[in-house]
Amino acid sequence: MLGKILLLGLAFWLILSLLKQYRRSIDAPESSQPANQDMVRCAVCSVHLPKAESIQHLGLYYCCIEHSQRQP
Ligand SMILES: [Zn+2]
Repeated sequence: MLGKILLLGLAFWLILSLLKQYRRSIDAPESSQPANQDMVRCAVCSVHLPKAESIQHLGLYYCCIEHSQRQP
């Protein structure tokens, strides 16, 4: 039983580290400029944040989960 859990954990860790390596190979160091990032505005508080960090809900962008659950 314990061996199974250990094996599962090891497999999970292996997949995670492979994913990290894969991501790093996609993000070439030359193209990782912050200026290229898409900026979006929170529909509730109008704060600007990178699109990757925003929460998308019904076609609108939000800065946090609380704002995405609020009506704009
Ligand atoms: Zn907000």
